[in-house]
Amino acid sequence: MSSVEKITCRIKSGYARQLSYAGRVQIINAVLFSIYNFWGAVFILPQSVLDDIDKQCRMFLWGSSEGHRKISLVAWDNVCKPKKYGGLNVKRRKLWNLASVGKLLWQIVNKKDVLWAKWVNEIYMKADEDIWSHEPSQDSSWYWRRLNALKDMMSTWYDRGVYRLTSNGQYSVSSSYNALLGNMNVMREADLIWNCIMLPRQRMISWLAYQNKLLTKERLQRMHIQVENTVCCLCDDGVDETDQHLFAECKWINEARTVLATWMGIDIPQKVFKQSLQWIKGRHWRQFKKEVMAAICGALVYCTWQARNWKVYRQTIVNNGGIVTQIQRELKERVSMFSCARKASKCPCLIDRICN
Ligand SMILES: [Zn+2]
Repeated sequence: MSSVEKITCRIKSGYARQLSYAGRVQIINAVLFSIYNFWGAVFILPQSVLDDIDKQCRMFLWGSSEGHRKISLVAWDNVCKPKKYGGLNVKRRKLWNLASVGKLLWQIVNKKDVLWAKWVNEIYMKADEDIWSHEPSQDSSWYWRRLNALKDMMSTWYDRGVYRLTSNGQYSVSSSYNALLGNMNVMREADLIWNCIMLPRQRMISWLAYQNKLLTKERLQRMHIQVENTVCCLCDDGVDETDQHLFAECKWINEARTVLATWMGIDIPQKVFKQSLQWIKGRHWRQFKKEVMAAICGALVYCTWQARNWKVYRQTIVNNGGIVTQIQRELKERVSMFSCARKASKCPCLIDRICN
């Protein structure tokens, strides 16, 4: 087995493919990442290997397999951003590898008493030679030449020979990794999507809906994928199925929204998910109340999308009355689960309203 196969075989099993998006992200981040981390920390992996691992992860996330391609709903670069910058926090293999390997360089810079650093200093480096100005000869090993080729990218982590990304000068892979990621735009509403009240399975669909990345009939058409008809299947208004219609204007979601708004005693505006979150973010509410309201909006989007898929793919009609009861029951469970949290203690009336 090649190293790539060893790393990726776990995501190719039948069991892994049946997982939800949320489960698959967890597998990529946890299992795969830990195995990769083992290999990547020891070796500088060739670019082709890193590209291959990225490709396997990408296919696994979106449910593709060899010979059966599925559409990647979000660009991989965005998937790999940390959550507060709008991503799923999947680690960029290439940068993580670089950050891991950076530890080897740190050991040399600090003349650490480890076998590898001593060996390198004896074999390749002249006495008192500076690693930053060292130029490896052509007959030195591939790893040594590769490390030297990468060292320029690592030089900004040091200030006069001292690693400056941690306060004590000790090497940190994640600090180096974050430095490599550079500056990114913050997604202001990310904390409302990845909040503990929202059910895990609803967070991923919410994240997609926030970016208008769900494959509505309108989006399919824009991608030049043939659709039988473009009309919304949840109401009989004969209107095109757009994000705006499905999540803001359609009777199906609005009936459910009205019942939930009355239950909460809060007017929930008829907006698409991103605008709803922006609206919630702008209220003078406690953070816990914002998270509860975001969870309701997320649940509405999730259930509407599910009802739409049941109608399109299984010709089954889902009643929105049943959905409301389900959302209320699940919210009650989540809120009582987290009612002891410090931020929840500031909203006793809200908890009372939901749980009693
Ligand atoms: Zn409709």
